[in-house]
Amino acid sequence: MSIDLGLASHYAPLINGEFRSHTDETFDAVDASTGERLATITRSGKADIDAAVAAAKAAFPAWAATSREERSRLLLTVADWVEANVERLIGIDAHDIGRTLFELPQDYVQAIGQYRYFAAAVMTHDGWSMSYPGGWGIAKREPYGVVGQIIPWNVPAIMTAFKLAPALAAGNTVVLKPDENASLSTLELARQLAEVFPPGVVNVVPGYGEEAGAALTAHPDVAKLAFTGSPQVGRIVAHAGAERLVPVSLELGGKSPNIVFPDIDDIDAVVDNTTFASTFCNGQSCLAGTRLFVHDDLYPTFIEKLVKAYENIRIGSPLDPETRLGGLVSAEQGERVLGYIEAGKAEADLLTGGKRVTVPGNEHGYFIQPTIFETKNSARIAQEEIFGPVLSLIRWDDFDTMIEQANDVRYGLASGVYTSNLRNAMRTADRLRAGQVWVNKYVNLVDGQPFGGYKESGIGREVGRETLDMYTQLKSIMFNEQVPSPFYV
Ligand code: NAD
Repeated sequence: MSIDLGLASHYAPLINGEFRSHTDETFDAVDASTGERLATITRSGKADIDAAVAAAKAAFPAWAATSREERSRLLLTVADWVEANVERLIGIDAHDIGRTLFELPQDYVQAIGQYRYFAAAVMTHDGWSMSYPGGWGIAKREPYGVVGQIIPWNVPAIMTAFKLAPALAAGNTVVLKPDENASLSTLELARQLAEVFPPGVVNVVPGYGEEAGAALTAHPDVAKLAFTGSPQVGRIVAHAGAERLVPVSLELGGKSPNIVFPDIDDIDAVVDNTTFASTFCNGQSCLAGTRLFVHDDLYPTFIEKLVKAYENIRIGSPLDPETRLGGLVSAEQGERVLGYIEAGKAEADLLTGGKRVTVPGNEHGYFIQPTIFETKNSARIAQEEIFGPVLSLIRWDDFDTMIEQANDVRYGLASGVYTSNLRNAMRTADRLRAGQVWVNKYVNLVDGQPFGGYKESGIGREVGRETLDMYTQLKSIMFNEQVPSPFYV
């Protein structure tokens, strides 16, 4: 399948409504499967970040004073543009990060939904007022100012929308740094953002984390930081925020439990959904259900079907609509995943997969068979985020022990439960230490339903209206009917 990507040969940062850079240094955007160069991108550094923050700072007062109707209207324009260009944007991501044409459309459904959701939500996002004897108090919501946002490579359309939509709706101006492995679709979007928003309101500055990213987090005029990525870098960003005492929201990693009770109605449907939960996005998702707890009573039947489902997953070029598993984002990521698989062989039983696969015409790509280990929860492969198609399968029979193990991990992003028994669903949902509990459908992201992590999976919530609270601060203004009677004079 061939899609006209309409790519430019070079992408510069969007700063103050223009595409210009303060450096001649570039890096390549490379097709994850073929190794072909797709475009060059400015390797922005401190000078670009300084210019972008200055532009965002200058644009802030007027943008904050814009009516919310106007901000909402502009976000809807962005949603419409993404929708009109969706096929091309999907094609860009498929080449840039190797995600499949099969699953990328859902990224864009989610991204478009977020621009529309926050365009609507901001219209009812108010502070509050109260009265007291002799006066009135108002708690007014105000934007922070310049927000610095940094995102990872795995789902660029979603990450961009999760960050831009609420921050702009709330009246902040933004400097967004996309990931160096997946900047192209965001930079294509930037061409449209430059048309829609006044200069300086949205700035998109591509570059490496240690350079552009670090300069952004350290900038004294950035009033709030929002980061999605690994816990290691999340800590660095949190330290940078602490240094300047600015709020930091973090969406980090996961090692999510997915729990199957013996009372499920349809074993095939649950096998299918748990397979999807652990392999969509090639396992390169923070919310992947990578620890599967299956009850003893149905264990043998379940694993037989699960192994078959894994072995049926079609590996191939991400551009083939029949492909269900493309390559990983880079050779570095592929080596990392194979390293975990080797470690897993020493501590657990390999049930299927485990090998690198060559896909003709895509020799540059790093394709790995979907892999299942039967393991203990304490094993390293069951504790660490692998970010590849590797599942840890754990057998359970005692509810309390299973819950203890499900929670015995440093992360707490998502979780899943499969049961036809309401009581099982409720008591499990209550006891899981995770920001999301999905009963009978894993990955159930709906606009308005808050998304975020417990424990080391993050701080703050995205997707729902609480995100607008996160991007605003409350100002209390109190009106007194008259000046109090004097008591000093
Ligand atoms: P990463 O932390 O390596 O990189 C994320 C971003 O941080 C990139 O833009 C990178 O350039 C930047 N960065 C790197 N070093 C930096 C520094 N010193 N200062 C400032 N910025 C810096 O993460 P990744 O490998 O791109 O993504 C994978 C991770 O992201 C996984 O842990 C995954 O679980 C997590 N993730 C979380 C969510 C969520 O919503 N919770 C969503 C997607 C991905």
